[in-house]
Amino acid sequence: MCFAPLSPGLAQSGSDANETVVSYSEFLQDLQDKKVTKVDLYQEQRLAKFRLEGQSESDPPKEVYLFDRNPELVEYLRRSGVSFTVVPAGNDRAVVGLISNLMLGFFILFIFLMIIRRTSSGSGGPGQILNFGKSRARFQIEAETGVTFGDVAGIEEAKEELQEVVTFLKNAEKFTAVGARIPKGVLLIGPPGTGKTLLAKAIAGEAGVPFFSISGSEFVEMFVGVGASRVRDLFKKAKESAPCLVFIDEIDAVGRQRGAGIGGGNDEREQTLNQLLTEMDGFEGNTGIIVIAATNRPDVLDSALLRPGRFDRQITVDLPSYKGRRQILDVHARDKKVADDVSLDTIARRTPGFSGAELANLLNEAAILTARRHKKAITTLEIDDAIDRVTIGLTLTPLLDSKKKWLIAYHEVGHALLMTLLKNSDPLNKVTIIPRSGGVGGFAQQVFDEDRVDSGLYTRAWLLDQITILLGGRSAEVEVFGDAEVTIGASSDLRAVANLAREMVTRYGMSDLGHLALETPGNEVFLGRDLMPRSEYSEEVAVQIDRQVRQIVSHCYDIARKLIRDHRLLMDKLVDVLLEQETIEGDQFRELVRQYSDLPVKEPSWHSPPVPTPAPVAYDLSHGPIAE
Ligand code: ADP
Ligand code: MG
Ligand code: ZN
Repeated sequence: MCFAPLSPGLAQSGSDANETVVSYSEFLQDLQDKKVTKVDLYQEQRLAKFRLEGQSESDPPKEVYLFDRNPELVEYLRRSGVSFTVVPAGNDRAVVGLISNLMLGFFILFIFLMIIRRTSSGSGGPGQILNFGKSRARFQIEAETGVTFGDVAGIEEAKEELQEVVTFLKNAEKFTAVGARIPKGVLLIGPPGTGKTLLAKAIAGEAGVPFFSISGSEFVEMFVGVGASRVRDLFKKAKESAPCLVFIDEIDAVGRQRGAGIGGGNDEREQTLNQLLTEMDGFEGNTGIIVIAATNRPDVLDSALLRPGRFDRQITVDLPSYKGRRQILDVHARDKKVADDVSLDTIARRTPGFSGAELANLLNEAAILTARRHKKAITTLEIDDAIDRVTIGLTLTPLLDSKKKWLIAYHEVGHALLMTLLKNSDPLNKVTIIPRSGGVGGFAQQVFDEDRVDSGLYTRAWLLDQITILLGGRSAEVEVFGDAEVTIGASSDLRAVANLAREMVTRYGMSDLGHLALETPGNEVFLGRDLMPRSEYSEEVAVQIDRQVRQIVSHCYDIARKLIRDHRLLMDKLVDVLLEQETIEGDQFRELVRQYSDLPVKEPSWHSPPVPTPAPVAYDLSHGPIAE
């Protein structure tokens, strides 16, 4: 470890200053001794620069700081006949002033150019320069989306509910004839990548109507009124081509609770939102326009948006379950060459928590790998690699033998061993010390139980074991290399530990503080509704929470340390194998543990073939290199 001294630059200027600056008394002494040849007085800066006899021209002049007024100095200089000049202060300043004026000028010009670019970058031309209010609408129109419900998979309920909207758009008269009020707005709520945009396009495609789309962030502009006029433009165009579908993506960008957020209200956003509400009220149910909006933050939306007659239908588009993932994979495998041995079932099982977009991306990555390997069809190998690549990063070349490699091996085996030994843990999928892009030095990966992931029902025992596993890496480092040699590679483990332990205490009521939730999820500050996170407890409770969190973590750490200490020899042997092979698959790892010890090793209870899950416990190198 290197404790960097002062940077060379600093050291340099320090010593320089010491050489050229002299004290006032030294200066007077030099004057008295008649050693001084020339003096420049900088009255403004209260500084004098002077040269000594015999000092070479290339040397910098000596400097001395003066007192506020030095009438006696001038007098003295004159009498002693030393050549001296008074340097007027204005000189430098004038230049600085000129430069800063010029810069200001350029800056203003720059801003002005930006404004022009912004306003004319739509479909307007140079002729539109100052036509702010009438800025060209920045929405996209697709006459035919070409997307059908067949392209959307795994979100059957949402599809079913929206089927009705298709019918409305197709033959509105049928409904209006019997006096039915057609819904105007549908709000799609769900995390990114779950297919909200796709769904909206599919509705337009199925109904055969044009698709108008704009993103909420495009409404919010620099100038008050631009957003509102865009909304007006959009709806004007939409009315002209009714029946049609208007899709507003990221509606939370405009539709946030009004009069909230840091800095009070935002005039521009409020006007835009008001305009949107007015437009939605303005058209009758039978105009044949249906507005579909998407958001992943329904909690920040202004309540006015959710009132009847506006976005009164809300449809949740959740992350797909196992069955949904399977169907989405089907859709995206349709246009790809997949080898017969690839089981989409297995992929679906291996990817809990993946969104539709991530699944599509996964298959695409696998196809790219296949092409790169000059294969005819995607095989399980490419799928495996693609999953690792999407979730962890690209593989890099293995480390050369070094202390670092050794240390990472112990760290990862620490995790892997605990995954194998702890009773409530999910089993190991693989442990590797082949580094990955993104600063991952190696990782130990579990196969999460799919039912638990899909249902989200994590038990207290499972959580405690998970914390213990996370602490296993650090524990192994301490055991082998000692307290002083532990590295920062465990930082992401420790962060995860802190989060898990805290959530156990504050959200799941799993500590001695009792069965109560003290915090709500998503308590972070956002600019929408609450300025500050609400905490439902006093300072006193905060202290208790801290104590409980600490207790959980130290309890788990003790378990991890003890298990690792008790099985040090086993760990040494496993590390030898890992250093040799660089990757150990879960089955082999369990076999080795059985072979080298008489410990009970839990056999994974797969329903079918092994189903590894991402979210590995990775050795984090991203904080910089660890000591060699
Ligand atoms: P969102 O708008 O919810 O963020 P998108 O609709 O933009 O998500 O999804 C991006 C891409 O992911 C889609 O174009 C599609 O290829 C894929 N995708 C997402 N969800 C699904 C799904 N349910 N079925 C099929 N493909 C999906
Ligand atoms: Mg989208
Ligand atoms: Zn780790």
